[in-house]
Amino acid sequence: MIGVCCAYFLAKQSAEVILVERGEIGGAASFGNAGSIAPGHPPLNKPGRIRRSLLDLLNPKSPLYIPVRWDPGLFRWLWTFRTFCTDHHLAASMEALAPLGHASLDLFDGLVASENLACNYERSGYYEICRTKEGLVEVAHDASMMRQYGYHPREMSGDELREIEPAILESVVGGVFFPEAATCDPHRFVLELADRSVRRGVRIETGRGVSEVLSTRSAVKGVRLEDGKILDASAVVLATGSYSASLTKKFGLRLPVRAGKGYHRDLELEDASARLLDVACILAETSVFCTPIAGFTRLAGTLEFSGVNHEMRPRRLEQLTLAAEDYLHGVQGAVIRSEWCGLRPCTPDGIPYVGPVPGQSGLFVATGHAMLGLTLGPVTGKLIEGYVSEGRTSLPAGALGLERLE
Ligand SMILES: Cc1cc2nc3c(=O)[nH]c(=O)nc-3n(C[C@H](O)[C@H](O)[C@H](O)COP(=O)(O)OP(=O)(O)OC[C@H]3O[C@@H](n4cnc5c(N)ncnc54)[C@H](O)[C@@H]3O)c2cc1C
Repeated sequence: MIGVCCAYFLAKQSAEVILVERGEIGGAASFGNAGSIAPGHPPLNKPGRIRRSLLDLLNPKSPLYIPVRWDPGLFRWLWTFRTFCTDHHLAASMEALAPLGHASLDLFDGLVASENLACNYERSGYYEICRTKEGLVEVAHDASMMRQYGYHPREMSGDELREIEPAILESVVGGVFFPEAATCDPHRFVLELADRSVRRGVRIETGRGVSEVLSTRSAVKGVRLEDGKILDASAVVLATGSYSASLTKKFGLRLPVRAGKGYHRDLELEDASARLLDVACILAETSVFCTPIAGFTRLAGTLEFSGVNHEMRPRRLEQLTLAAEDYLHGVQGAVIRSEWCGLRPCTPDGIPYVGPVPGQSGLFVATGHAMLGLTLGPVTGKLIEGYVSEGRTSLPAGALGLERLE
């Protein structure tokens, strides 16, 4: 998502762009995410998060899973994460991310319309639905923060929700509607935008990764690919998601990006013309997203810190269905169409790293979008385009800079 968005906006400014992807375009975290474009939402870091997470670890139905193993790097990361779970940092995160959410949504609208992207883009918002009073209080608090930044979330009773979506069970006591949100098929979006990028002159090289960024003492001069081939370049943008840390080490830049694994299970009904859900919902207490996408419903969520691997744990997948059964009718009768896992690139302060690498002219980083990589993809592409072509951006993105790692 992020690499393709950067390539598209750079090519639009007539830059000569080569997009190097060691796997397939749109094949990693961006392939099977929940497809929700959720501007204005706070990041994971919130006061009380660590205490709640520790309790969650004892609950097999909880969205969080950390396998028991010796991993000092993860402990260090979690410790730093904890220091950012404060009211002060939450306010700073909203200040940083909420305005960019508006900009990204405008860019989505513009891209889908002007490039005619066939990706099931729906601008119909989503509903965060709650089974408990505590859940309602937390969602209402998020909503009140978002209102300060020009979003218009609306609180709703359980009955109002059921009138709109009859699949919602009686056990749901209420929720919040987020009208600014949108949904799409994330894989289709990436493929379509990659296609339009190629039409604007981007050359895509797949199947071989970048093994090293080449540089003189203070400026980049290109990259070496895994098979030894060298590509000359005056600028290099590292949009390598959860796999970013190794490429920046030689520049003395330690990127504390951790892979937060999530899963999806796509469900369809035996009657292919029927839908489990008509509107997108987040199940508040379990953080599972339920998104209707062209003929199926995607259940997506869970957060697992088990390192960089794609091992699928059946219990984590099953947890998605169990969570959905507690909120929605018809889940039991649905058929599993596909299952998948992907790695969210998570930063300890919940804010992505987007910008030039200090002290290394021509080197840029765009990663760490965690739960918001689809949402903030277009605005990230626009930011990188500004930094690469003009050395600056007119968007308010200072908080995303890499200076904070120094
Ligand atoms: C279950 C789940 C649900 C999610 N739901 C949402 C959602 O609803 N809304 C939202 O906004 N976000 C969501 N996200 C987060 C979102 O998917 C990610 O933030 C986003 O996909 C990250 O995009 P990326 O391009 O940075 O990383 P990736 O998609 O991981 O792409 C990085 C790419 O870099 C390539 N690469 C790595 N190293 C090299 C190398 N050395 N050389 C060449 N290529 C390399 C990889 O092969 C990969 O294709 C979700 C994530 C998950 C897992």
